[in-house]
Amino acid sequence: MNFTPTEDQLAVQRTAHEFAQNEVLPKAAEIDREHRHPAELVKRMAELGFLGIAVPDQYGGAGLDNVSYALAMEEISRACASTGVIMSVNNSLVCDPIYRFGTEQQKQEWLAPLASGKLLGCFALSEPEAGSDAAAQKTVAEKQSDGSWVINGTKNWITNGPVADACVLFTMNDKSLGHKGITAFILPMKTKGVRTGPPDDKLGIRGSKSSQIYLDEVRLPADAVLGEVGGGFRVAMSTLDGGRIGIAAQALGIARAALEDALAYAQQRRTMGKPIIQHQAISFKLADMATEIDAARLLIHRAAWLKDNKLPYGKEAAMAKLFASDVANRAAREAIQIFGGNGYVTEFPVERHFRDAKITEIYEGTSEIQRLVIAGYLAKGG
Ligand SMILES: Cc1cc2nc3c(=O)[nH]c(=O)nc-3n(C[C@H](O)[C@H](O)[C@H](O)COP(=O)(O)OP(=O)(O)OC[C@H]3O[C@@H](n4cnc5c(N)ncnc54)[C@H](O)[C@@H]3O)c2cc1C
Repeated sequence: MNFTPTEDQLAVQRTAHEFAQNEVLPKAAEIDREHRHPAELVKRMAELGFLGIAVPDQYGGAGLDNVSYALAMEEISRACASTGVIMSVNNSLVCDPIYRFGTEQQKQEWLAPLASGKLLGCFALSEPEAGSDAAAQKTVAEKQSDGSWVINGTKNWITNGPVADACVLFTMNDKSLGHKGITAFILPMKTKGVRTGPPDDKLGIRGSKSSQIYLDEVRLPADAVLGEVGGGFRVAMSTLDGGRIGIAAQALGIARAALEDALAYAQQRRTMGKPIIQHQAISFKLADMATEIDAARLLIHRAAWLKDNKLPYGKEAAMAKLFASDVANRAAREAIQIFGGNGYVTEFPVERHFRDAKITEIYEGTSEIQRLVIAGYLAKGG
């Protein structure tokens, strides 16, 4: 077992840390307060190669690995979870499936500009009545006699939706086949008939723009299909396996922010004649937070390492997300407790961590769904 990061991984971590500390963190409170999409930070992440970290350089990516991706996600989400999820969606949910399932032409046309950050992507699987039950797709794709497609439907909660240039879109093309009737497409967001709703007004990650996407008689050519006709569910599920590594790393970043902020506060805040860190009740909270954060990181790096080594990693990614999102929520809650009254007001950052942490238990599969996935592997003897 080797826990030593490579030189390349350390270099990514260092770059991400400096970027996060110097450029992202100073803006995080304002991004949250103003519900602002941080376009200038997205541009900087493109320059730093953070929008296609594990994509080979021949397709515009940084040509690195998933451990590097997890390290960068942790650093950036430690500073701003909104900026973290924008990065995660583009890497995990857009570049990754186009790299794995796209034709050479699709890779040249879409992957290269998305991975280099010239374009930004979104991933549209969820619908008003298809969240956890992702196979219940109601967006319909009808094949025309000339091989092209006409698509109608509504997608829900689509992160980056209002600011994206391209979308990995899931549709039902044959309801009688159940999940085998689902087909994925690459959809240019400027296509006639595509409209986004107003940005969702959210509890946390307020700088991440998400919205509904309405598809009204949207026409796509035959070569817009991603993967095989009827193979969309496999594209979606295998993509979410990888996405969970990114969201777990986002949760880890939020947990670390909660710990680091609480630790600094506990060292300077005094009650009963001493810094509160010298009260065992407070120091034990910090000890638990630090221990759980380390355990989450190990689970995440194991899943990323398995993916990098082309070994099965679905169960491990689900475990990493389940655990890290739980840790983030607990750490943020305890950080507020350590800050006392100051934890409850927007002047200090921990209430933002508390609000940001919650989403990591919901998107890319709720915690209940992660347990279903893990239990499914256990039942199969995996
Ligand atoms: C801010 C935000 C951003 C998002 N971004 C995206 C995106 O970019 N792309 C995208 O496609 N989707 C996105 N989503 C959607 C997200 O993935 C779904 O909200 C999530 O999968 C849950 O689906 P749901 O909201 O329909 O809840 P439901 O599926 O209705 O679940 C409701 C509750 O029931 C539980 N539940 C459901 N089924 C079961 C079961 N079988 N066993 C046990 N418990 C169950 C759930 O865990 C949950 O607690 C986003 C959501 C949010 C809030």
